[in-house]
Amino acid sequence: MNASYDNNNIFAKILRSEVPCNKVIENEYAIAFSDINPQAPLHVLVIPKNPYVNFHEFTKHASIDELNLFWKLVKDVIDHFKCENKGFRLITNSGSDGNQDVPHFHVHVLGGKNLGRMIN
Ligand code: 5GP
Repeated sequence: MNASYDNNNIFAKILRSEVPCNKVIENEYAIAFSDINPQAPLHVLVIPKNPYVNFHEFTKHASIDELNLFWKLVKDVIDHFKCENKGFRLITNSGSDGNQDVPHFHVHVLGGKNLGRMIN
């Protein structure tokens, strides 16, 4: 995995059930839960259950099954909230330019309204 992973980040605590979350769905390799500070009517975070700091660590080290089931869960969230037709936005922040706050790889699934331009 990744030596620089911080086991005390908030998503690691959620995965260990030390901090509660509003779980939407999960599978063997990933879990989806509501963002605590939603930026849209739908704002769900999808995270891998294994410890990866960011997108590159995840895509470099995850198994094919893990990659497959992670992205399947992202799609399942979109289907769960019936967003396919009206649309949605996926975001993953990475590093300082991306302003990633929580150092456990995650994808934001946003929707439920017109989200405007990507960067204002
Ligand atoms: P980032 O800036 O790292 O891409 O996004 C981190 C996200 O995690 C933010 O949208 C923030 O609201 C969310 N977040 C931070 N702490 C918690 C928490 O304790 N529970 C949940 N459900 N979301 C959190």
